[in-house]
Amino acid sequence: MIEIEHRLAQRRNIVTALPGPRSSALADRRKAAVAAGVGSSVPVYAADADGGVIVDVDGNSLIDLGSGIAVTGVGASHPKVAAAVADQAGRFTHTCFMITPYEGYVRVAEELAALTPGDHEKRTVLFNSGAEAVENAIKVARLATGKSAVVAFDHAYHGRTNLTMALTAKSMPYKANFGPFAPEIYRMPSSYPYRDEPGLTGTAAARRAISRIEAQLGADAVAALIIEPIQGEGGFIVPAPGFLPALADWARRNNVVFIADEVQTGFARTGAWFASEHEGVVPDIITMAKGIAGGMPLAAITGRAALLDAVHPGGLGGTYGGNPVACAAALATLEVMRELDLPARAREIEAMVVPELRALAEQIGVIGEVRGRGAMLAIEIVRPGTSVPDPVLTKAIAAEALSAGMVLLTCGTHGNVIRLLPPLVIGADLLADGIDVLTEILRRKTVSN
Ligand SMILES: *Cc1c(COP(=O)(O)O)cnc(C)c1O
Repeated sequence: MIEIEHRLAQRRNIVTALPGPRSSALADRRKAAVAAGVGSSVPVYAADADGGVIVDVDGNSLIDLGSGIAVTGVGASHPKVAAAVADQAGRFTHTCFMITPYEGYVRVAEELAALTPGDHEKRTVLFNSGAEAVENAIKVARLATGKSAVVAFDHAYHGRTNLTMALTAKSMPYKANFGPFAPEIYRMPSSYPYRDEPGLTGTAAARRAISRIEAQLGADAVAALIIEPIQGEGGFIVPAPGFLPALADWARRNNVVFIADEVQTGFARTGAWFASEHEGVVPDIITMAKGIAGGMPLAAITGRAALLDAVHPGGLGGTYGGNPVACAAALATLEVMRELDLPARAREIEAMVVPELRALAEQIGVIGEVRGRGAMLAIEIVRPGTSVPDPVLTKAIAAEALSAGMVLLTCGTHGNVIRLLPPLVIGADLLADGIDVLTEILRRKTVSN
């Protein structure tokens, strides 16, 4: 792995209790000002971040294994991204693309047409968040097909707006008591190799979903099928090989729009530009956000020209969608990703981390499975010798990781998955330190179990 120069020292350095006094003071102010419904995974307040570290307001330097949920692949303050943002902000921060358009938006659309899978003619629309991209992908699919039913899957996560809550599978904390939800959303079984019946192939899992769709809805009613090529919040679930291609084939044969939600898996994260590529899947529409702009809020849908251009002029948009500063950040981010070949670097991260965790899984009983692709890796935590999820232990591991100086996220329908999402520019030494710390915690926790 080539060494990348960073502004901040790339080391774990804990100088106070965690959280430290300044973070604790901010937590008190926050309680009186910020709504309780907004959570934070770790109670330390950020002051600076670069490469693989986050420095908190008390001067602690933490290893970042979350990238702000797979956003800061190029780091949280890449100098090229920061310069592009400053330059654009010094010229104009906003005109509204629907009022006075600008080149940055067009260039991002050109880049996405070239980067996303498939060499068909494509069109792009830019938005502010992943949820907004998903909403608009569904709008386009319904208008273009004249149908209304949308198929989503078990363990899916597509966002927190009303339509995307309906698409999201998990009730707590995303949906509980926030209904009623948008209608015409139907949930089908996905492919979860660790928990499916042993030997269920990807094509058999696809047939299971398709036969239910045909029996319960009929293909003629279905506008779109939306799926994350690797399910994110649901547990970093990599479907069995053949599952995604079989669904995409069925969709194509039945005039159903196949939407790949690559909001979390996109932009080099899984060792390819997009996770759909691992199985040669060419989505009709792809939704993107998170890693696209080095931390600036930007989202996109890119899809077949015939679908996107079916929408009447004025039918798609939004005040801030494709903000010029965010577009400048995206163009700089993509340039850095190419320059550093971050898809290859994500594969190097996988090669570094996975064998070590798999070896550990052989030795201790609480690791049900180590899985993922590239720098989107996960450990599913179970009660020793069983496949029973252990969310309590998972939470305890994340808490100990914080005490040791690491930002470590969890996920999963049962809250029992540790996810590793380091910035793709993290150095080998820092990553190795993080994995050592995690390994040590897992060993200790298993003994004390
Ligand atoms: C995070 C996420 C979303 C929602 O993105 P926001 O920017 O938080 O609205 C949608 N789909 C997937 C797969 C995600 O991981």
